[in-house]
Amino acid sequence: MPPKADPFVQRRLLDVARLDQATSAAEHRRKSLPELALIAAGTARVDELRHAAVLAQTEIGDLDRAARKLDNEIDAVRARSKRDSDRLAAGTAPAKDLENMQHEIVSLARRQATLEDEALELMEAREQADALMATLNKDLTAARADLAAAEARRDAAFADIDDELRRATAERKALIDGMPADLTALYEQIRSRGRVAAAALNGSRCEACRMDLDRSALGEIWAAGVEDVVRCTECGAILIRS
Ligand SMILES: [Zn+2]
Repeated sequence: MPPKADPFVQRRLLDVARLDQATSAAEHRRKSLPELALIAAGTARVDELRHAAVLAQTEIGDLDRAARKLDNEIDAVRARSKRDSDRLAAGTAPAKDLENMQHEIVSLARRQATLEDEALELMEAREQADALMATLNKDLTAARADLAAAEARRDAAFADIDDELRRATAERKALIDGMPADLTALYEQIRSRGRVAAAALNGSRCEACRMDLDRSALGEIWAAGVEDVVRCTECGAILIRS
């Protein structure tokens, strides 16, 4: 049997329907906040920069190790060259060794020049790596700040929406309280299909589906008792007569 309800109680369904639409809109807003896409992109950007910074740091470590190794080699070459020079200066070496030592001093000087060129190249590479690292750190700081700002905006928007949802839930509960169970069950059943479950009948038009009801449907509605719950023949919404 279709439910019956006091017309004033039936009218409250319009407020319930209004709250339900506002709730759906708020839930949709919560899911489609522009900040959510910004946060996803910002998180990816921070990850990417952090990865690049780790690589740059590894590169700096490698360059420093190579520079230390090169310094040691240069020191060894210098020491060997000095030892040869000292022996030459002392004039104590056997004559047959003198020519060899002179050759060796020349070749050590060449070797030292090559190593020093390499050291210079390493220094330049280190400067570039430092500059890259500085840029990455600057970009990372900016990206983290952007991300934090987007997260703060999201949290503020969520708090507002959640407030609105809580108020709507409380208001809805107050409206529904004391309504006949069969009326609310019918309302929920229509709403569970994703439809507007109650709307005003405005002349011949259903305000839920915006369709005009035909003459015979209207005749039946106007013939029904005030407590009878009537529905749109087009969309099934509970129609509230004014
Ligand atoms: Zn309708």
